[in-house]
Amino acid sequence: MRDAMARAPVGDEQSDSDPTTRALCDRVAALLGQEDGLFMPSGTMCNLVSILVQTRPGDEIIVDDQSHIYNTEAAGSAAIGGVSVAPLKTAAGIYSPEQFEAAIRPPARTAPRSALVSIEQTTSFSGGSVWDLADMRRIRDAAQARGLKAHIDGARLLNAVAATGIPAAEYARGFDSVWLDLSKGLGCPVGAVLCGSKEFVVEAWRWKYRLGGAMRQSGVIAAAGLYALDHHVAQLRVDNENLHLLHAAIADLPGLSFDPTAGQSNILCFSVAGLGVSAAEFAGACLAEDVRIRAIGSQIRVTTHLDVDRAGVLRAAEVIRAVAGAFAAKA
Ligand SMILES: *Cc1c(COP(=O)(O)O)cnc(C)c1O
Repeated sequence: MRDAMARAPVGDEQSDSDPTTRALCDRVAALLGQEDGLFMPSGTMCNLVSILVQTRPGDEIIVDDQSHIYNTEAAGSAAIGGVSVAPLKTAAGIYSPEQFEAAIRPPARTAPRSALVSIEQTTSFSGGSVWDLADMRRIRDAAQARGLKAHIDGARLLNAVAATGIPAAEYARGFDSVWLDLSKGLGCPVGAVLCGSKEFVVEAWRWKYRLGGAMRQSGVIAAAGLYALDHHVAQLRVDNENLHLLHAAIADLPGLSFDPTAGQSNILCFSVAGLGVSAAEFAGACLAEDVRIRAIGSQIRVTTHLDVDRAGVLRAAEVIRAVAGAFAAKA
């Protein structure tokens, strides 16, 4: 990847004349079955720009209550777009089409206007759950029939593809905006690609420019994305398999509790409350054995990726078992 970056032909991205960036955008747009795409510094900016283009100040967007947009984007949609968020309570980050339809506000002088719905495929903080394609389409159709835009936060869309075999373009079809992160499982140092119709991309470019997201010789980093699409997509299947392996190795541990839907892609969340320790203490004990897992609130969140091979995953499982055993003995 570093080599491909060093050899990339470059130009000026701001005038759309960086050939490597153009090639990356065309490639991702084709992968997602969308008309056009633009290169972004981050997934966070993809979500923000999608919201800015498709809402007006005072509008409301509908998301799940564990979503990245709601929890970890520093309220960008409110701070910059003047948009409020209606978070839906979910199990494992997936809301139902019925729940969504009930959340759309009837037009009223007194109410915010429901303007956009976002689906996170796969879910990030809810443990990598994979949305059902038919449900996504029902939500998309219901949204568009009521005048809302339908957005996919596809940071890990290709992990869903790896899990189900359903092509990315099938998931993305008919959605108004959709993006992929290059810096998650695809293993690039930076970047994301945001796609939609030609008209959407024209407006998205204006916001990208305003927010300081326009670049110059971005081919150097876009080349990493092209390299990843050639060489790292198959790895996502391995990441999902490694997660299943880890899940199977720790599923029976007393004191750990898992959601019944846990382990669908490359993220696993579980609670250690049954051991009488906090998630932070548990993660700290694993880190002391060189296994880096994350405490998020009361949950542990584990992610497999291209820098952790099968042997590493088995070792992580051993450490988690040992740590859980040690805490159980003290309890
Ligand atoms: C990581 C992530 C983002 C943000 O992407 P960055 O490239 O880190 O800005 C948005 N949504 C989801 C679901 C994510 O996992």
